[in-house]
Amino acid sequence: MRNLWDDQEARACGGDLLKLRVYTSRLLGREADLVLHGGGNTSVKKTETNLFGEQEEILYVKGSGWDLATIEAEGFAPVRMDVLKKMAALDRLSDSEMVRWQRSAMIDPGAPNPSVEAILHAMIPFRFVDHTHADAVVTITNTPDGARRVREIYGDRVLVVPYVMPGFVLAKTVYALTRDLDWSRCEAMILMNHGVFTFSDEARTSYEKMIEVVTRAEDYLKAADAWEPWQKTSIPSLTLSGEETGDLARIRREVSMLRGCPVLTRLLTDEICRGFARRKDAADLARRGPLTPDHVIRTKRVAAVLDEDTGAGLRAFTEDYEAYFEEFASAGLRRLDPAPRWAVWKGKGILVFGTSVKELMILTDIVRHTVEAIERAEALERWQALPAKEIFDVEYWDLEQAKLKKAGQSPVFQGRVAVVTGAASGIGEACVRELLGRGAAVVALDVVKDIQEKFGSHHVLGMECDVTRQDQVEACLRRAVEVFGGVDLLVSNAGIFPQGRRIAEMPAGVWAKSLAINLTAHQQVLKACVPYLRLGREPAVVMMGSKNVPAPGPGAAAYSVAKAGLTQLARVAALELGADGIRVNVVHPNQVFDTAIWTDEVLQSRARQYGLTVQEYKTNNVLKTEVSARDVAVMVCAMLGPTFAKTTGAQVPVDGGNERVI
Ligand code: ZN
Repeated sequence: MRNLWDDQEARACGGDLLKLRVYTSRLLGREADLVLHGGGNTSVKKTETNLFGEQEEILYVKGSGWDLATIEAEGFAPVRMDVLKKMAALDRLSDSEMVRWQRSAMIDPGAPNPSVEAILHAMIPFRFVDHTHADAVVTITNTPDGARRVREIYGDRVLVVPYVMPGFVLAKTVYALTRDLDWSRCEAMILMNHGVFTFSDEARTSYEKMIEVVTRAEDYLKAADAWEPWQKTSIPSLTLSGEETGDLARIRREVSMLRGCPVLTRLLTDEICRGFARRKDAADLARRGPLTPDHVIRTKRVAAVLDEDTGAGLRAFTEDYEAYFEEFASAGLRRLDPAPRWAVWKGKGILVFGTSVKELMILTDIVRHTVEAIERAEALERWQALPAKEIFDVEYWDLEQAKLKKAGQSPVFQGRVAVVTGAASGIGEACVRELLGRGAAVVALDVVKDIQEKFGSHHVLGMECDVTRQDQVEACLRRAVEVFGGVDLLVSNAGIFPQGRRIAEMPAGVWAKSLAINLTAHQQVLKACVPYLRLGREPAVVMMGSKNVPAPGPGAAAYSVAKAGLTQLARVAALELGADGIRVNVVHPNQVFDTAIWTDEVLQSRARQYGLTVQEYKTNNVLKTEVSARDVAVMVCAMLGPTFAKTTGAQVPVDGGNERVI
């Protein structure tokens, strides 16, 4: 474990205890092998003068909902030490009482809720206390002989605490264990199946002790040849066939139904995940339990195990989950959804299921670390997680569930996947941005190369794609399904605006190219999407038409004919796909000038044709208004969403009102 301490950065804290606390907390947070996504917590004790001139000892402890990697001074909850110490001496205290009393003992009512480990931090008689869930240490404690191994590594320099629930019970256990302890001889606390505490009056020493304790555990695994057991095999890479991506979309559909909302699904096929999925004992290993109990709220206790050929296995997971609930639930407890959060797809890889891209990413990290720990523990001895009852108690602990409950409604396209063609500019780009703003994961396709990086967001999968090439479209969709799990929404937008030519003067190439891109490609994209849309959640398609369909102009035959054909394609598609619940509608924009096709040259030539200035031409509509790409994208989102839930085969103009159309 690298020591990231930097004298210059530390000096910049100017000796301010809270600033130093922020600094070394972030050092811990930078290492995913120490803490992951909100795991771990830290504190510092300070003496402060209150409003009445009295001296008070205050514990600044990590606030609930803050992540060590990004914590700020205001992420620490200031709690009166005397109250916390008195609480530690109580025989009994319910979790809700503990939270209430901790909160009422804060000197700043606007601060976040103190960590559930605040009492434990208070009773450790050192100024700085650092707590992580270090992978290496937890891995060793998750083996049958873990306690002996911890002794072997650390001797009697550390206090070993058997596993109990976090919160008051843990604080009480440590209170009892340390009543006669000579703290000056104790370097750290190892919490079995949970993590490590280090402490010191100096920020640097407490941090460096953590690094040292974890490094010793890592060295122990290395000496036992259990550090990188997965590198012993070389694993062929994987590309899913069309049939397999169909299975994947079907798995996503089933998990969405179990969870009661649309989920995104990602297939992880890196060496470690794929290697794990190819193990003969993967099904057994994946069902033994999580790395640390606090992961259960994200991952559930175990993974689903899916058949290599059929993808079946979700029903078995659900039945097991219901049986687990029945076995441990007390009367009146409500069962949570029985959908898995991750699955081992035998032979192929690991799947993660999240209602958002953020959840997918968190699960990806946790699952990777879990799989590494399992492999290491198996190489060392045997992976042994806590008994199911202990995991259940944490999964159904109010304080853990409260962490997941965020206020507010989820956005309209949360958990849904949208494909947008011609996504790099103009209306397509605006559609990507509006869909993102409404919570969708977006597959952005375009012929331009910079589409891959254009949006700079984990919520967008940008891929270079020539929509006139069926093989490219299909390959991009297969990739999209691996990354997001399926396709629910399609904005078939890619198009070109050929130079104005009258029919008599039109070169053959202009006509053919317009029809290939503005018509035939849309049919091919739709055809490729239909198998996934059929498995999608509230699937819908919007085709990008044009005002030229109801009101054509001279000199634009190649464009108008293609768009008229596209409109007819959408109408037939609405008829054909309605039985599958897929809605297909058309939007007819006009004179959207912030798009790539409206170059100055085109604009001037069109204005001239109508005998208008460019400005007159831009607002030449009933409402005398300019129509922007965003205006069209907002309408597209409405047509994809619940407002149009009962509408298919419709054509809606976004043109400021056109006399010839009205
Ligand atoms: Zn912890």
